Amino acid sequence: MTTNPRIGHGFDLHRLEPDLPLIIGGVRLEHDRGCAAHSDGDVVYHAVTDAILGALGQDDIGQLFPDNDPKWKGADSRVFVEEAVRRMRDAGYAIGNLDITVILERPKLSPHKARIKQNLAGLLGCDPSQINIKGKTHERVDALGENRAIACYVVVLLNQK
Ligand code: MG
Repeated sequence: MTTNPRIGHGFDLHRLEPDLPLIIGGVRLEHDRGCAAHSDGDVVYHAVTDAILGALGQDDIGQLFPDNDPKWKGADSRVFVEEAVRRMRDAGYAIGNLDITVILERPKLSPHKARIKQNLAGLLGCDPSQINIKGKTHERVDALGENRAIACYVVVLLNQK
C-alpha cells in the first residue's frame, strides 16, 4: 500500500510593534507589542497554511489572500488554515504530522504550546500528538533577537487517504 506522501514547507515573519495584539497559533499572548499585519498577523497559522499549500503544489497564502484586499483586513487567520485544509481534503490528503518552530525573543512560548496544539488539531482534523511545536530565541541577534520581529518555520507531511 502506498500513501503517496507529500511534504511541504512554510515560513512567515512579521514585524513587532507596540500596542498591537500578539496572536500565535490562535492564542493571544501578553506582550508589550504585537504583529504588524494586514490580517491578525498569526505567524503560526500563516506558515501552516503555506506548508499545506506547498505540499499540495498549489498557490501560496499571498496569492489566495492578497494583503491589499480589504476583505482580509484584520482577518482571523484561522480562515486561511481552513481554506488550506479544504483544499487538502479535496486533493484526498490528510495530515501525517507537522513540525513547527517559532522564533521569538520573548515572551516564552512554552506555557502556550498545549493550547496552540489543540487549536491546530481542531483546525487540521488531526490528533495533537501529530503536531510538534518548538519555541526558539534568536540569541538577542538581529531583528528577531531584538524583539522587533517574530518568525515561524513549518514542515508538514501529508498522507493520501
Ligand atoms: Mg504572515
